[in-house]
Amino acid sequence: MRSRVSIVRCGSYDREAVRQAVDDAVGLLGGITAFVKPGRKVLVKPNLLMAQGPEIPVCTHPEFIRAVVRMLKAINAEVLIGDGPSVWGGRSENVDEVYDVCGIREIARDEGCGIVYFDKHSWFGKIPLAAVLNEVDCVVSLPKLKTHNFTVLTAGVKNLFGLVSSSFKLKFHRDFFDAEHFSSVLVDIYEKVRPALTIIDAVTAMQGDGPGPSGTAKQLGLALASRDAVALDSVASTIMGLHPENVPTNRIAEKRQLGNIKKDSIELLGEDLSEINVGHFQQAGASIILRIPAPLAAVIKRFLKAWPLVLSRECRRCRKCAAACPEGAISFNENKDRIEIDYGKCISCFCCQETCPYAAIATRKSLLARLIGL
Ligand code: SF4
Ligand code: SF4
Repeated sequence: MRSRVSIVRCGSYDREAVRQAVDDAVGLLGGITAFVKPGRKVLVKPNLLMAQGPEIPVCTHPEFIRAVVRMLKAINAEVLIGDGPSVWGGRSENVDEVYDVCGIREIARDEGCGIVYFDKHSWFGKIPLAAVLNEVDCVVSLPKLKTHNFTVLTAGVKNLFGLVSSSFKLKFHRDFFDAEHFSSVLVDIYEKVRPALTIIDAVTAMQGDGPGPSGTAKQLGLALASRDAVALDSVASTIMGLHPENVPTNRIAEKRQLGNIKKDSIELLGEDLSEINVGHFQQAGASIILRIPAPLAAVIKRFLKAWPLVLSRECRRCRKCAAACPEGAISFNENKDRIEIDYGKCISCFCCQETCPYAAIATRKSLLARLIGL
């Protein structure tokens, strides 16, 4: 069966413009009641990577979240909002700061919905996910469209990694340090959660070394929606100038028959994809290596590497990167007053770069990667 994906234009984060875009995107798919029955209890799961306001497109924009919450409240849904911010977000005081800065507390107060924390977990097979999943009838996922140095992009499937409870995130990065294996775990999570609906905030997306503040804003002016987050990611990949099969989660999910990624298996509604021209979309530096065709990659991959590089001038010695590193590879050298990375331990997961609030971690590539222009 073909998956349906809607694409609508949204020129800004003006409240009325976003409301209209979200209404249109969901309306093209049959309206919100095609996904969520009236009166149900719903977890709205935005991407709240860190305590960062909307001036840098790291998190789902608060107006986007508000528009979806209002849509759900209009059908008398009981709405909870929550996310498990970045890998160091195990401590509730961090999560409270994220909810404040990202506008979640304000939305919850204005719109009359609850805020939830993901510190308690339940096992869904071998995956420890937020226990609140047992209390809700369904999940509505609201990713921010961004490049990702480890998984190529973050959108519908990757957004659900935030449901992994607290410190287990670090363990997953440690245990599945290869991007292919990590992407396979992301697909496992998608299989367990299967959101009722996913709506991507691509009004302002992120390009470059995402998904943290090292990336830069890219205005796309779009909102995309679907029940099939895999098909949605496939369409988003195309808009970003990627071949959908070069995104590991797309490829793995399709192989496991969890969603469609081929053009002829997706019905597009709304804007004509061929008329969406976003110009050059800068990909994440390290992820370029992942997108080399498989036969070639098998031969040269071990010479194509990327590592994090601390930019001493930008670094403010906050040590958040050290707390986020699953391998304990980052330390603060008191004598030299600088952050140091033990490259012997580093697994190139780029959690440190994702975590750094000051864009002080760049991507360093191997000689061959630089020579062939990756
Ligand atoms: S998170 Fe960034 S600013 Fe903070 S210590 Fe690490 S590199 Fe420096
Ligand atoms: S130093 Fe950075 S990239 Fe290397 S393992 Fe630690 S968090 Fe991952």
